[in-house]
Amino acid sequence: MKIAVILRNDLRLHDHPAMHQASLDGDILPVYVLQENLGSAFKYWTHGHLKSLQSSLRKFDGDLYVSSHSFKETIESLIEELQINAVYYNRSYHPDQRIRDEAFAHELDEKGILVKTFEGTMLLPPWKAVKENGEPYKVFTPFYKQFRTKTIPQAVPKVMEATFIEVPQEVTCISATIDSLKLVPSLDWTKGIDETWSVGEDAAIEQVKTFIDEDVAAYKHLRDFPSINGTSRISPYLAVGALSVRSVYHYALKMKPDVCEAFIRQLIWREFAYHMIVHYPQTVSRPLNEKFDNFPWLNNEDHYRKWCHGQTGIPLIDAGMRELWLTGYMHNRVRMNVASYLTKHLLIDFTKGMEWFWDTLIDSDIANNTFGWQWASGSGADAAPYFRIFNPYLQSEKFDNEATYIRKWIPELKGLSNKDIIEPDQASAEALEDAGVVLGKTYPFPIVTHKAGRTRALLAYGEIKNSKSDESE
Ligand code: FAD
Repeated sequence: MKIAVILRNDLRLHDHPAMHQASLDGDILPVYVLQENLGSAFKYWTHGHLKSLQSSLRKFDGDLYVSSHSFKETIESLIEELQINAVYYNRSYHPDQRIRDEAFAHELDEKGILVKTFEGTMLLPPWKAVKENGEPYKVFTPFYKQFRTKTIPQAVPKVMEATFIEVPQEVTCISATIDSLKLVPSLDWTKGIDETWSVGEDAAIEQVKTFIDEDVAAYKHLRDFPSINGTSRISPYLAVGALSVRSVYHYALKMKPDVCEAFIRQLIWREFAYHMIVHYPQTVSRPLNEKFDNFPWLNNEDHYRKWCHGQTGIPLIDAGMRELWLTGYMHNRVRMNVASYLTKHLLIDFTKGMEWFWDTLIDSDIANNTFGWQWASGSGADAAPYFRIFNPYLQSEKFDNEATYIRKWIPELKGLSNKDIIEPDQASAEALEDAGVVLGKTYPFPIVTHKAGRTRALLAYGEIKNSKSDESE
């Protein structure tokens, strides 16, 4: 049997159910199909992982081919040019792809082409984690409790050998030249990503093993402090599929069963996010809560631009946005703050924040990004209530009390005291002068202060809901 193994965000050899099964069933041809609308940072990240996977496959006389045509066109051409008679792939849960893949699989089946699909993205397929009456969950805690009673399938063995289909020169629909996909930007803005991250499946495995072996026990206490490497930092590897979430789950429970639950819980938040886009696919572009359809967003373009580029005048927010711009990543605590500031203080539509994250994150993930933004703006499932407006100054005090994170990303403020650096517009003229800070010149005044933004947000949110205010965050 000649089997095309179609790859998307699953660029690995360990626990790759589609490639593993194909290598047992026949001769294989691994083909990466470029998806539409990938963000710029994620494209660059993918490029490195394609090269890495190709070099791994070449070690056992295989190769990786790439295609810039659609999933359907690629497979149709492979059938015509290479007489492929089976197609195996791990299911994609991106709502558009899922619907198209399913329709096309049906067409292939009618033509006598064998199609086999596998679970390569989630711990369990989404239809296996529903309520007893078959309805999807909308609240995390009962989802989590039920999920923890389920048996998660073990990872399949790493693909170490296979027989590969020979691809004659005249075949045009695929190429072994990864550069042909043009995933590397022509302008050179990738230095920060290169300096922060190691590329490839081996690096991904090393990263997760080190975290679980050495740091998972402290995760519960350290995960909220952005200046500390207290989280696993595996999201970029999960997003590109260099890591299998199943392997991560089983490794944590095997090595540190007594101290890994807080971490396991986060992996299940990821499941929940996927669960939401499968059951509520409209949420990738619209609020889950329909009341938010007519929300009075202000969408001030100048404010949006300043938010994107870390020039809001609120140090914690600017530090996060600069970390994102330079490294393709932002700590979760800071993601929650920048998202709250954009949607609540600035009253900018959460989909604009989602777009910016999508373009700049190397861990851009359709489910987690959608879920995070819906949560932060108060419009999603089990979301932060609309009246809970993060106070970025209190958040800095609580989670960055020595301002290490702010100083790292906003060096122009580093001479200020720990108190003044959180809210420089409240510092004395003398303190600013001593630190060489000239507000409005070396660092901006706040475009919207916490107090003014909070009052305005409560009024706007009050138009769609009636509830009391809460300053607890
Ligand atoms: P850890 O804390 O070590 O957690 C381990 C893994 O659990 C993560 O890699 C991730 O897969 C999962 N996880 C952790 N927190 C969450 C969460 N809140 N929701 C869902 N899954 C979670 N995550 C992405 O992977 N891609 C995104 O595009 C993305 N966009 C986000 C946008 C917003 C506005 C917010 C608030 C959060 C977003 N997140 C996103 C979730 C979270 O911020 C990241 O998964 C986390 O910061 C990744 O760092 P880590 O791997 O060290 O996480």
